[in-house]
Amino acid sequence: MDTIVKKIDIEQCKKEDFIQAGDILRKGGLVAFPTETVYGLGADALNSDAAAKIYEAKGRPSDNPLIVHIAEKSDLKGLIRELPKKAEILMDAFWPGPLTMIFQKTEQVPYGTTGGLDTVAVRMPNHRIALELIRESQVPLAAPSANTSGRPSPTMAKHVYEDLNGRIDMILDGGAVGIGIESTIVDMTVEPPMILRPGYITREMIEQKIGPVQVDKVVVAKDISQIGKDNYVPKAPGMKYKHYAPKADLFMYEGCMENVISMIQKRKESEEAKGKKVGVICTEESKRNYSGPYVVSIGSRLQEDTIAANLYAVLRDFDEMGVDVILGETFYGDGLGQAIMNRLIKAAGYQLINADEIKE
Ligand code: AMP
Ligand code: MG
Repeated sequence: MDTIVKKIDIEQCKKEDFIQAGDILRKGGLVAFPTETVYGLGADALNSDAAAKIYEAKGRPSDNPLIVHIAEKSDLKGLIRELPKKAEILMDAFWPGPLTMIFQKTEQVPYGTTGGLDTVAVRMPNHRIALELIRESQVPLAAPSANTSGRPSPTMAKHVYEDLNGRIDMILDGGAVGIGIESTIVDMTVEPPMILRPGYITREMIEQKIGPVQVDKVVVAKDISQIGKDNYVPKAPGMKYKHYAPKADLFMYEGCMENVISMIQKRKESEEAKGKKVGVICTEESKRNYSGPYVVSIGSRLQEDTIAANLYAVLRDFDEMGVDVILGETFYGDGLGQAIMNRLIKAAGYQLINADEIKE
């Protein structure tokens, strides 16, 4: 299949820009499009065959559910059984925006979209191109990130092209996305509601609106053995997979900055002595401590939103450089730092090293 790439200027987009894409989607095809978080790979969420094509194009395990994207709050009717009061409050506060909520699904939503679950995840993206596309297609769009399953999510159309050219019908190129990491996911079917994936909308922002929420164990797990312990079963199977990963072996170092820097320096030297190409993920604050062609600053610790926006592109850049090993500093905080670390730990397949323990 030839993948059509269509550039759309977000400032000037018109209804005509979406006619072909809408047509493809109504007929059960696949169209990748920008959202404010990452690029999504869209298909008609109410058509099981169309949803199946998403899994095939991405190589995604079929038990990993898809998020359904809508353009109007009224589109929720038909998708969900009931709208809990707290969900209505969050919807009014954060939609359109990077917040996904989980509800009991209606029969209209096929199991092919929800990975076999009786619940459905829904969000309204805050991006003009995404909203226009949903309206033009006249169907809710199931849309996971538009990458090959397991690889870093796409934040530019060229990332989508690298992974999915020839496997999908169309890519709408609307330039680089703004936020750069996936939406916050909150399960509204339990009380109190539970955060299943951290994102740009933080726990504090949610609790300010609806009071206390729980956070799923997977979000805070630092060790793969913590998942699957105590008969703990992840809410959605997708939560347990290695994700967002670059081709090189990634190791994250936590601890006090001085120890982290010295452990990364030592490990870098020893890997290089073995003839390996070693990448380093550092920050504006620490970059002067490292030298070499594959040392990349991901941004300043004082601006976590920039770090989030750069994260996946930096991981993909390492793939292009052909490094064998990547050594990364870690990020903290309850806000965006937690979302960033959640992605990095999964990208590293839980290879997290405590530099303080090794040092002493
Ligand atoms: P993405 O891969 O970014 O499209 O995000 C999809 C993720 O949303 C899945 O891997 C799950 O973690 C979560 N998700 C989607 N639908 C559900 C659901 N019905 N219940 C629980 N989690 C869900
Ligand atoms: Mg994804």
